[in-house]
Amino acid sequence: MISVVAPVFNEGAGVDRFVARMAEVLGGLGEDYELVLVDDGSADDSWSRIAAHASTGPRIRGLRLSRNFGKEAALLAGLEHADGDAVVVIDADLQHPPSVIPEMIRRWRAGAHVVEAVKRNRTGQSPAGRLGARVFNRAFTRMTKVDLVDATDFRLLARPALDALLRMPEHSSFFRGTSSWIGFTRETIEVDIDHRAGGASRWTARSLFRLAVNGLTSFTSAPLHLVTLGGLTFAAFSVVLGIQTLVRWMQGQSVAGFPTVILLLLVTGTFVLLGLGVIGEYLARIHEEVRGRPRYLVQELTGLPSLDVPSAD
Ligand code: UDP
Ligand code: MG
Repeated sequence: MISVVAPVFNEGAGVDRFVARMAEVLGGLGEDYELVLVDDGSADDSWSRIAAHASTGPRIRGLRLSRNFGKEAALLAGLEHADGDAVVVIDADLQHPPSVIPEMIRRWRAGAHVVEAVKRNRTGQSPAGRLGARVFNRAFTRMTKVDLVDATDFRLLARPALDALLRMPEHSSFFRGTSSWIGFTRETIEVDIDHRAGGASRWTARSLFRLAVNGLTSFTSAPLHLVTLGGLTFAAFSVVLGIQTLVRWMQGQSVAGFPTVILLLLVTGTFVLLGLGVIGEYLARIHEEVRGRPRYLVQELTGLPSLDVPSAD
């Protein structure tokens, strides 16, 4: 059986469009399938729409989180509740072209464990968003050796790969990264990202920044090493500059002072604060992991065969 997992947050009428399109694509496969829609605490009528679709038959299942936990948590909830031998993760806003799913399934049948869709274009992103994504993806790829350039969350995971992914105990997960980190036989398909079927992107600059910081801190300690490296560079400079200043002073030449002092204060101050910030981010991650709170809470389920599935770990 094939499971399709889609996170839904305030998609409203988009839910109906999505379900109709998926029924069309999945119905044509000639395979058994289920569509798992995870309502990530929507404030609009998304849940009632999902529930209405779920009541039409066993193929559509709904999972309602108790509040907005964020896309990553919603994905995880969907993945933990999916029963398929292969699971396809797709956005509910139809930006990921569902027409690619049959090809993903063909590749899976031919032996691939992970089939990733990579972006050929970045439709629907602002120039600033594009630049940010580029810088982040390249930095991430370089620091972690996990290739994120042009990656999307649109991917198929075969059961062994999914089970490996679900064994990861991290609380703030980063699906794009973890589903690459696990390895397994991988293939990629280039896709064209469409415009949103309705509404606007749910991400704000702030939530994207959080995603980037979470992704980085959960994958690599390279930023910490960068701080150490920066500190060492500063130490080398201060030895050279210190000796020079002392020698001049002994020769009776005082260094022309004020601008130099201000500049040094600013530079060192910035560096110290940045360094503290980096350490703080890691500390916050540790704090989060140690608290060990559930990653999401389920308020309601529809059409799920067994209700004894743990709603959180
Ligand atoms: N989404 C979610 N929870 C959130 C934000 C987004 O479940 O807190 C869902 C959203 O409904 C959509 C998918 O994640 O199905 C991608 O969101 P969006 O289209 O806003 O992101 P973008 O395409 O701009 O990256
Ligand atoms: Mg989108």
